[in-house]
Amino acid sequence: MNKALYPGSFDPITYGHLDLIRRGAKTFDQLVVAVARNTGKKSIFSPDERVEIIVSLTQEFSNVEVTQFEGMTVEFARRNGCGVILRGLRTMADFEYESQLAFINRTLAPDVETVLMMSSQEYTFVSSKWIKEAVIFGADVSRFVPDSVAKQLKKRTGK
Ligand code: ADP
Repeated sequence: MNKALYPGSFDPITYGHLDLIRRGAKTFDQLVVAVARNTGKKSIFSPDERVEIIVSLTQEFSNVEVTQFEGMTVEFARRNGCGVILRGLRTMADFEYESQLAFINRTLAPDVETVLMMSSQEYTFVSSKWIKEAVIFGADVSRFVPDSVAKQLKKRTGK
């Protein structure tokens, strides 16, 4: 079975991430979406909250499961029987970061393959980081995240 791991911060999950999940679910037999608990980034939502949000948004995919993890991504992939790590590519900046990560992961675990999937054109400029900043300034982000996420972001930031 072709099982892939899609790890990330997902703080918050965006239409860009959801597009990758949809395409990943079509490409692989099974897709494990895993919220990383230890990225060192300041987060808006706790890992439990992020998992809950992603579960509610991925109900339509019978081959997608959502979980959280701490520690090395390749180790988590191995423990869960995932032979592939799926990551997204938007810009050249992503390419530099993701290719470094892929080389490191291949050195650590040659049996785990990284697959980089190009973002869809309409989501090339959608990032969690930008959305967090925009919400703090009171911007409407409903074109970039699902309604439920936009509402929770507003509540959380008091905007
Ligand atoms: P991380 O902190 O691990 O980079 P992110 O949640 O920011 O976590 O992103 C997880 C993965 O999803 C990364 O590979 C990132 O490049 C990809 N990604 C983020 N936004 C998009 C998007 N709009 N389209 C496609 N891939 C994306």
